[in-house]
Order: sequence, then structure tokens, then C-alpha cells
Amino acid sequence: MGPVSRQPGGGAARRPVMRKVLIISAVVLLVLVGGGVGLYLVMNARTWQLFGGLTYRVDTEQKVVALTFDDGPSDKSASIEQALAERHVPATFFLIGSEIEKHPGVAEQLVAQGHQLANHSYTHTRMVFVGAEFVKAEVERTDAVIRKAGYLGDIVFRPPYSKKLYQLPRYLADHDRKTVTWDVEPDSDSGDPAHDNPAAIARTTLDQVRPGSIILLHPWNADHDADLAALPQIVDGLRARGYRFVTVNELLVS
Ligand SMILES: [Zn+2]
Repeated sequence: MGPVSRQPGGGAARRPVMRKVLIISAVVLLVLVGGGVGLYLVMNARTWQLFGGLTYRVDTEQKVVALTFDDGPSDKSASIEQALAERHVPATFFLIGSEIEKHPGVAEQLVAQGHQLANHSYTHTRMVFVGAEFVKAEVERTDAVIRKAGYLGDIVFRPPYSKKLYQLPRYLADHDRKTVTWDVEPDSDSGDPAHDNPAAIARTTLDQVRPGSIILLHPWNADHDADLAALPQIVDGLRARGYRFVTVNELLVS
């Protein structure tokens, strides 16, 4: 005799109902978890987005590579500019609009030195679950300060934290704007001991770069001094392997 017969009050009759409820609950849970995972993947994808496409590297046989720096300007501009000038390296700076305004003169200086300026939003907010007006303000206000600094080239966009969902890619696609991420980020994991080790950052970069790569570093950030210290090894190492440094806009047409 099975356990059903021992349940009082018609348990046997309820059992199929219970089973149905359990199955439905399991399906709902799976859909929710699956949907959540899907949403997470869409928000964080570095190599694709819902609208307009996205460039994380360029398919080319030429040994060209672009060096990109996120999140500035900050008070570290003099040392960054000097490190690049010493080795005659053009870089692409994904700047935050509000930070450009807080550090007057820095963006102008970068333009004068031949670097590319690019848009990394106005407030560095995660741009998921945001409205169209918010997206427009983040993009356009930053464009305005970049133009005010004298930059004349195409302004490409990089989402803060590489996060985007619907409104941001939609806005960029509708306005014929390019989204640019990266394929090499040697300082990405702050839990990794290599995070503040210049030699390890340089080694990871040299190991991962291939023709058309886009390297991301964060030398403006206070806890990323190792990025700048790694720069000479990165530049010399890649040049020794035959690579030429170009801006992102130059890379996009190579
Ligand atoms: Zn950022």
C-alpha cells in the first residue's frame, strides 16, 4: 500500500492536482530564470547588441591595434599625456562628459596632441532600464562638450560598464552612431593579483592582441596606476611584434 492511502481526507484525489501545480511552478520558475539569464546576457554582451551592431575588434590582416582609455578625465592627465607623447602613441579616450567639465582644458589638450575623443556617457550610469530622454541627454550632452573641446572627428560611443539593453542601442542605431567595445582588457579583474601588476598587464596584452584588436585600460582611475606603468612594455612589446598603433576611427576603416 502506497503513502497515498495513508493521507486523510481524500489525499489521493488531490495528488494529481498537486503534481500539476508543481509542474506549472517549475515551468514558471524556469521561464523566469531563463528570462533573467537571457536579460543578463543581453545587458552585458561585449560583442553584440539588439540594434545597430557593435565593434569589439576589426577583422583585418594588417598589424594594427587601438589603445583605448576609459572614464576620464581625472587629475592624472599630465602623466598619461606624457607617457603617450614619449612614445608617439595615438590613443582613443572614452571620456565622461561631466568629468570633462570638471577638468577644464584636459580634453582640449588631448585633441591638440592628436588623440581621438569618444563618448562614454555624461554621468557614467548603467544604461539599462532607462528612458529614451535619459539616453538622449547622456549622449548629446557629452557630444556637446567633446565638440566644445575642438574635436572634429566622428564621435563613437562606449556604454558605461558595457551595459545596454533596448533604449541605448536603439538611440545609437537611429542616429547612425557606432558603438565600440574591446577585445583585450588586461586589467579587468580587480580580484586578480595581476590587476595591479604592470608586468602581468603587459604580458596579458601581448598574449591576447591580434590584428585589429581594441585594448581597454583605465589609467585615469585612482586604483589603476599599474596601467600607466605597463604602457611602455605594452607599446614596445607590440611594436617589436610589428604592430602599429592607430586610433579607433582609423582602425574602423582599416
Ligand atoms: Zn567606464
